[in-house]
Amino acid sequence: MKKSALLMAALVTLAACETTPATPPVSDATVQAHVDTATRLAGSDLSALLSLCKAAPAVRPKVDEHDLMALIAKPAPAPGKAFDNLYFLGDAWVSAWAINTSEGIILIDTLNTDKEAAQLIEGGLRRVGLNPARIKYIIVTHGHGDHSGGVNYLVRRYHPKVAMGEADWTMLETNPDFPTPMWEPAPKRDMVVKDGDKITLGDTTVTLYNTPGHTMGTLSPVFDVKSGGQTHRVVEWGGTGFNFGKDFTRLDAFIASTKRMRGIVAEQKIDVLISNHAGYDEAVAKLAKRRQDPRGPNPFVLGTANVERAMDVMGECGLAQRDRFTMMK
Ligand SMILES: [Zn+2]
Repeated sequence: MKKSALLMAALVTLAACETTPATPPVSDATVQAHVDTATRLAGSDLSALLSLCKAAPAVRPKVDEHDLMALIAKPAPAPGKAFDNLYFLGDAWVSAWAINTSEGIILIDTLNTDKEAAQLIEGGLRRVGLNPARIKYIIVTHGHGDHSGGVNYLVRRYHPKVAMGEADWTMLETNPDFPTPMWEPAPKRDMVVKDGDKITLGDTTVTLYNTPGHTMGTLSPVFDVKSGGQTHRVVEWGGTGFNFGKDFTRLDAFIASTKRMRGIVAEQKIDVLISNHAGYDEAVAKLAKRRQDPRGPNPFVLGTANVERAMDVMGECGLAQRDRFTMMK
């Protein structure tokens, strides 16, 4: 290369550097900066979300059946009424939610096993005064057995329609993320949900957003609830943990999903965030508060700005994990 060509190449490189600010290379410091931002944003009210900021494994963990059995064996919290038309039915680890409409029940998730579906969903609905025979729809937030495990039992008993994201039907049918005999095989394919699809039953419409990340077919249901004469709008975040190993497709999808949902939250003035694991939304503690003070402020109502902030916390934890994975390259 001639001297002038070399000079030109150097100038072009210099110009490129000036127009594109160099991204600092990822390091422990960039990871920590994202964790610090998440921690600051979470404050004390959203700190339960920060477990997502812990380092995630580079390889998808296998199901430890002993650990799973121990989780299921923990005493389940009592079922409870979060809103006039929304009930918590969970075990100590994973949650199912029942939306009571004028024409029947829309159940979101089904816990791990037939036994849990019988004891905690059928039994739980009866305990809160609802008839499980009114279950008309089951929405499966994502295709992991702790959410889909009770579907087959409930379908045999009550014949509801079952809705799941397309990618997760396929994943469960062909190549489940977490194969184990403890969880039922895939249910029979039924309603294949696309982003933005709606399910209407009686006076209630649930909009299902595809928020890929935790799994690619994850669904986050959005719907209205009532409490103390007021209407509130809920999003249930459909999949949270980074238990997919070093998979940038899923992680980047997760980060993008938090940003997109933040916009939907602002636009639709969503003021309630619930989860399918009580470890993230502190549902059990909030239900206890509701029982103690049924006329007081509903602790499930966070306010729109705080639900937006929750999306930011999860997004920052995603960015921290992205940097960790990048450093593993
Ligand atoms: Zn999962």
